[in-house]
Amino acid sequence: MPATSGTRRSDALYAAAVRRLPGGNTRSTVYVPPSPPYAVRGEGHTITDADGHEVIDLQGNMTALVHGHAHPAILAELRAAVADGLCFGMPTEWEVALAGELVRRIDIVERVRFANSGTEAVMLALRVARAYTGRPKILRFDGSYHGLYDPIVATGARGVAPQTWQAVVTVPVADEAAFAAALDEHGDELACVIVDLMPNRPGLVPVTPEFARLLRDETQRRGILLLVDEVITFRLAVGGLQSKYGLRPDLVTLGKAIGGGLPIGAYGGSAEVMAVTDPREDGAVELGGTFTGNPPTMRAGLVGLRLLDAREIARINGLGDDLREGLRGLGLIVNGRGSLLRIISDEPLELWWRLYRAGVLIAKNGLACTSLPMDDSTVEKLLRRFAAVQR
Ligand code: PMP
Repeated sequence: MPATSGTRRSDALYAAAVRRLPGGNTRSTVYVPPSPPYAVRGEGHTITDADGHEVIDLQGNMTALVHGHAHPAILAELRAAVADGLCFGMPTEWEVALAGELVRRIDIVERVRFANSGTEAVMLALRVARAYTGRPKILRFDGSYHGLYDPIVATGARGVAPQTWQAVVTVPVADEAAFAAALDEHGDELACVIVDLMPNRPGLVPVTPEFARLLRDETQRRGILLLVDEVITFRLAVGGLQSKYGLRPDLVTLGKAIGGGLPIGAYGGSAEVMAVTDPREDGAVELGGTFTGNPPTMRAGLVGLRLLDAREIARINGLGDDLREGLRGLGLIVNGRGSLLRIISDEPLELWWRLYRAGVLIAKNGLACTSLPMDDSTVEKLLRRFAAVQR
């Protein structure tokens, strides 16, 4: 590991940061030791850092920036949105339009609500599940990341009240026998099973179609809601990864790519399930959020989703497949599907720095993704840079 990032202005920024932010940091996931380079500007698939170093952004803010940086159509919409008003204590037509786009794309979604992050979307979808079923517990798969809400962070995580785990059943990822045993033991108390069909943290390996079917059959049989967390995977198909499995969950959580680059979350399901949040009903679950549904986010999301049509999704999935094949050809272990990749390395930080210096940004855990501004020549350039650091 290098003693310093080797970038003078970034080093100076980090020296100031440690006096103001714990460890100089507000987002553990983007901290790289000994100190991270600081981003200044992004355009298309290129980021320029505080020292003028340019990298190809193969990370896209943890896969959120499927349109790359400063997409002209999103920028134009944002300029208009900002001029019209940043946020109102009233609904606007834009939340109706973005909701319409999500309802059109995702088969099981008849009603949707917005949030400001994937974390919030998961937190509120779990509350909807508890309210609808009247049951207290949730089942999650060990190691899958669903954001920062207490019950779905790792069991025993520091700072979480121990009694939280009493309402959480944890099962190893894709372990059919353990899943069946947990359902036998806790089935009657479970409101919801939350699953990511291709969880990043355990390695970005898609669950098998058989496991997806088992999830649906067993939850349905026991009156448990199935929540598919598509915060990362939605970008893989017009109807999200669930559509590729022909899976029909009860609830879906979304975030990242659906906001055109702005902070967003969303959760949706059937009209019947989502009705527990209907303010016209007695005893409805009350869900607010000062900045939820703000017009710039809704408008950027809407323009962004229209750009992310079936043709463009197929194109960036193809670029991802080509890149994965090329990287495997260089001897790297690469998981994932379509536009989402995960590079598995024994020394991820070492690899991260070597790639960064060679002009490629990935996540420090090896997560990477292709995006709309990329084409075949970008993949060739990326492969040349990976080849240079592999030597
Ligand atoms: N669910 C999944 C599957 C995620 O990958 C993430 C974030 N990486 C979240 C939820 C939380 O989203 P956010 O960071 O927007 O809170």
